[in-house]
Amino acid sequence: MKERILEKLKNSNDFEDSTFVQAVSEVLTSLEPLANSDKRFETYAIFERLVTPDREIRFKIQWVDDKNQVHINNGYRIQFNNSLGPYKGGLRFHKTVNSGILKFLAFEQIFKNSLTGLPIGGAKGGSDFDPKGKSDFEIMKFCRAFMRELYQYIGARIDVPAGDIGVGSREIGFLYGEYKRITRTYDGVLTGKPFTFGGSQLRPEATGYGVVYFASCMLQNEIAQTLKDKVCIVSGSGNVAIYTIEKLQQFGAKVVACSDSDGMIFDSNGLELKTIKNIKLSSRKLSLEEYPKEHRHAQYTQKADYPEFSNAIWNVKCDIAFACATQNELNINDAKNLINNGCKAVIEGANMPTTPDAIELFLQNDILFAPAKAANAGGVIVSEFEMSQNAAMETWKISQVDEKLQKIMQDIYFRVSKTAREYSKPRNFTDGANIAAFKRVAEAMILEGV
Ligand code: NDP
Repeated sequence: MKERILEKLKNSNDFEDSTFVQAVSEVLTSLEPLANSDKRFETYAIFERLVTPDREIRFKIQWVDDKNQVHINNGYRIQFNNSLGPYKGGLRFHKTVNSGILKFLAFEQIFKNSLTGLPIGGAKGGSDFDPKGKSDFEIMKFCRAFMRELYQYIGARIDVPAGDIGVGSREIGFLYGEYKRITRTYDGVLTGKPFTFGGSQLRPEATGYGVVYFASCMLQNEIAQTLKDKVCIVSGSGNVAIYTIEKLQQFGAKVVACSDSDGMIFDSNGLELKTIKNIKLSSRKLSLEEYPKEHRHAQYTQKADYPEFSNAIWNVKCDIAFACATQNELNINDAKNLINNGCKAVIEGANMPTTPDAIELFLQNDILFAPAKAANAGGVIVSEFEMSQNAAMETWKISQVDEKLQKIMQDIYFRVSKTAREYSKPRNFTDGANIAAFKRVAEAMILEGV
């Protein structure tokens, strides 16, 4: 089945997008045992339809910077599958964004959203706009220009974007402001809004906290251990990484390293999160190079000083590694380094941060490996809570959001691990996640007809 579907993709433009093909290929490998299990999959061409987006929208964004210079960027929204509910998935503003990366992210989102058990479909969007070095006003002007094009394709019951790399509550606030000005409607068309106007408690923290809830549940149930006193490393220092570190520290773990796109910091005493937040959450977003100025014993390693074939952070000795920066940031050489240094578990906080050969090596070495679509679902879960709150014009308390988030993260773990066992692949949570997610989406696609 996998070869047949990939062969078909080869004849379409989609095959030029290597990250998309990588994501499709991984999912189809997991689904191979199901190919002949239900005749309806063939009758309704489920696999072929599943790998084809419903809609790929591309638009031009024109905006003017502080020096009155005109800029043009590409904007995208990939509405991949809405069988389970309105399209749902983040917006990414980063210079590397193209339709292929967004297609891979939207495809992954279908499965992640399905695993949550909530009524949400899969989508992703964004722009090749680079927010680095831009003033607050320039960010605002870009966000408004972006929404002037996007608004016509989204809606509280149609497609509900959220944040991702380069898009936090500040950007969502600007986007939402423009949406309201154009449409005169105050509805839950975006999630991740500032709390003062319709945002949910715990949305900024949700992905990172969810990652740790998943990890904690997995450790407890697989090897009867807790996170207390575990030495951890966390790649990235953005939204997901920061709140992963925060919750790990609350659980008594010691986080000794984190990174950014230029380098990484190692602090044998355990990272001081307040300093990281000051460096990274300020609107100026500085480099981690600043950290040793306050913590003299800490070491900063610049990316350029490290061999190209591996990433410095994965060479730090640890019990558990959390990959929370970006796609394909943990390769086979990094996996070897982690294993040789005694790492026992790897958790994906970012989307598809681990290359397929690295995952294979982890499984061969009995390293617990938690795939992104299961472990990082916390963000979309609380986004769905935000949609519910907006629809009912309600505000839930932090404790209510946190309790529901923990419960769903645990449910995801049990669903994934049970499915892996059912298909004779205990502890293969990648297969467990892909199969469990697929079953729910496929059933909906069959029942709604072609
Ligand atoms: P942010 O933009 O907040 O942070 C990204 C971080 O990763 C930054 O610190 C950035 O460094 C760093 N980074 C980027 N490239 C590299 C690299 N090659 N090596 C090391 N560090 C790097 O994004 P998020 O935290 O929101 O997203 C991170 C990942 O999590 C993405 O894969 C995203 O799709 C995924 N995700 C996010 C969710 C959310 O709710 N935000 C939900 C689910 C998944 P610098 O500071 O230098 O830019």
